[in-house]
Amino acid sequence: MIRPIVFYPDPVLRKVGARVEEVTPEIRELAADMVETMYDASGVGLAAPQVGVSLQLAIVDVSHDEECVSYVRVNGEEMTLKDICPLTFINPELKLIGEKDTDMEGCLSFPDLRGDITRPFEVIATLYTLDGEKLVIETDGLFARAIQHETDHLFGKLFIDRMSSARKMAIKRQLKEMQQEFG
Ligand code: ZN
Repeated sequence: MIRPIVFYPDPVLRKVGARVEEVTPEIRELAADMVETMYDASGVGLAAPQVGVSLQLAIVDVSHDEECVSYVRVNGEEMTLKDICPLTFINPELKLIGEKDTDMEGCLSFPDLRGDITRPFEVIATLYTLDGEKLVIETDGLFARAIQHETDHLFGKLFIDRMSSARKMAIKRQLKEMQQEFG
């Protein structure tokens, strides 16, 4: 079932999500709905707070472009994006490594807004599947970026927080309009 996406400035987007301690049937249903909702919105990632649920659960799928990463290792084994996406994960912990890299990002909670965001190029993500399997994912490029963007959501952080001050100034009016429309 496609769920409505929550837009900025909904307060749920600013909450730190609760850790998922037990994967109930409701959480499995939520995760399945989130995958459907993300594809329907043509996104490459979606976090539970973006459908109004303050939990540390998110989806990422960047497998439309195998070239957007130079490597993917899962628990030490080489994999392709197709093997691991859509990745549904809970309770992530990230170790950010590598050079800083700047690229354009969008966010389904900000329909008309895009911006250059600087983030570490590589990540070592320790996270859990809904079946309780621990995955250590080492990757770079768009996959690393999307995992960072979605993990930010789980801790109440938004991509606008990571924009340059010049970009923040430039989007001030757009944010104000969103506050009036969705606040
Ligand atoms: Zn987002």
